[in-house]
Order: sequence, then C-alpha cells, then structure tokens
Amino acid sequence: MTIQSIADGVWQVATAHDTNAFLVEEDDGVTLVDVGWAAAPPTIISALAEIGRPLSDVRRILITHAHPDHVRGLAGLLRLVPAPVFIHPADAPWLRAGRVPVDGRSGFLGNVLDALPLLHWTPVAPAGLLVHDELVGGLRVIHTPGHSPGHVAFLHEPTRTLLTGDAVFHRGRLAAGPPALAADPSLRDQSLHRLPLDVAAVGFAHGSPLTGDDVGAYRDWLEA
Ligand SMILES: [Zn+2]
Ligand SMILES: [Zn+2]
Repeated sequence: MTIQSIADGVWQVATAHDTNAFLVEEDDGVTLVDVGWAAAPPTIISALAEIGRPLSDVRRILITHAHPDHVRGLAGLLRLVPAPVFIHPADAPWLRAGRVPVDGRSGFLGNVLDALPLLHWTPVAPAGLLVHDELVGGLRVIHTPGHSPGHVAFLHEPTRTLLTGDAVFHRGRLAAGPPALAADPSLRDQSLHRLPLDVAAVGFAHGSPLTGDDVGAYRDWLEA
C-alpha cells in the first residue's frame, strides 16, 4: 500500500520500502512532511493525484531532519513542486551542504556511510527555519535533537496525529533507532519527553502507523 490515511486529511506515503513521507491537508492547501530517497518524487506526485490535489496545492515542504532517506529526493521534487522548504536551523547547514558532515553521527558506521556519494544529495537552501513550539499550518513543531541536532517531530493539532520522523522507529517494535546513526544518542531520551502522550494516531518515517486502540502501544512505550 503506497498511500494510506492515518487520520482525517493526514496521508502516509510510502516512498520506498519502509520509508514514509506524509501529506497533510490544510485550510490553505497541502503540507508535505519529508520527501525520501531520489526516487521519491514520482510517488509523491502520484499520491497527490490520488487524493485529488494538483501540484500547485502544495504550500510548504517541512523536513524532519537532513538525512539522505528524507531529503535526497528534495531537489528533484522542487523542480516539479516549487514549494518553500522549512527545516530546523541546526540541520539547515547539512541541507545546504548536501551531506551529513563527517562529525554528524556518533558511530564509526554512520561516518563511513556518510562518505558514500550515494548518501549525498543536491544541496537545497531552505526558505525558512522551524522554531520549537511554533505552529506551521496545523502542525506544531517539536524540536527533538539527538538523532540529528535539528531533528523535529510534528503534532498535527486538528487530529492529534504525531509524525515522529526518526525520533521513534516502528520497525516491528517501537525504538529510538540505531545509536551509531544518531548525532548524539544521549540526547534522544530527553527529546522523547517532549513528545505528547495524548495523541490519536502516530505516523513514523520508518514503520507502520499506529491508529485507534493500537496507539496505546506508543503511550506505554513512551511512559516506560
Ligand atoms: Zn535519520
Ligand atoms: Zn530516516
């Protein structure tokens, strides 16, 4: 299933195996959260068609963090969908550089991976910067550093849907993800305390969404 509704007006778009972007229908158009790998743009464009939205409806592109599986397709998408891009200031230099810097991950494995051209992307200059706790469209910005310094999650307030980015993974089980791929793994637990418990649905960049009674698993995990 490439596209699925996880809440009213909130769509998960699988842009690759186990990698998701999200389309959020707003009063003023559509917000895209994350893009995906280089092959993601056609999938996002099909998803917009599937929900009956022309490309010109995309008002903004919000980036949870500057890792290649979230932004490698961004420059290609912007050629077709020239919407303003927003990212947290701490990840903005990475987005502009077109790669995660050599000291951008805590572990050796992460640093080796980041040296590969396959994990670099066409540099993109953001149109604006995301501030913790500000409301962008219907999405509340939650700065959750650790995985990357400028990582943000988003709470869609009209539906109480949390989009975790890579602050929480749901690959079979809920987890904070591999420490070696994080910039500062020790910050991640603190950041988890910023995530809301009172949510109606949770969408993950990696893993299947939680909706209805299944959201209890997220609350239990976060409280533990
Ligand atoms: Zn990441
Ligand atoms: Zn990711």
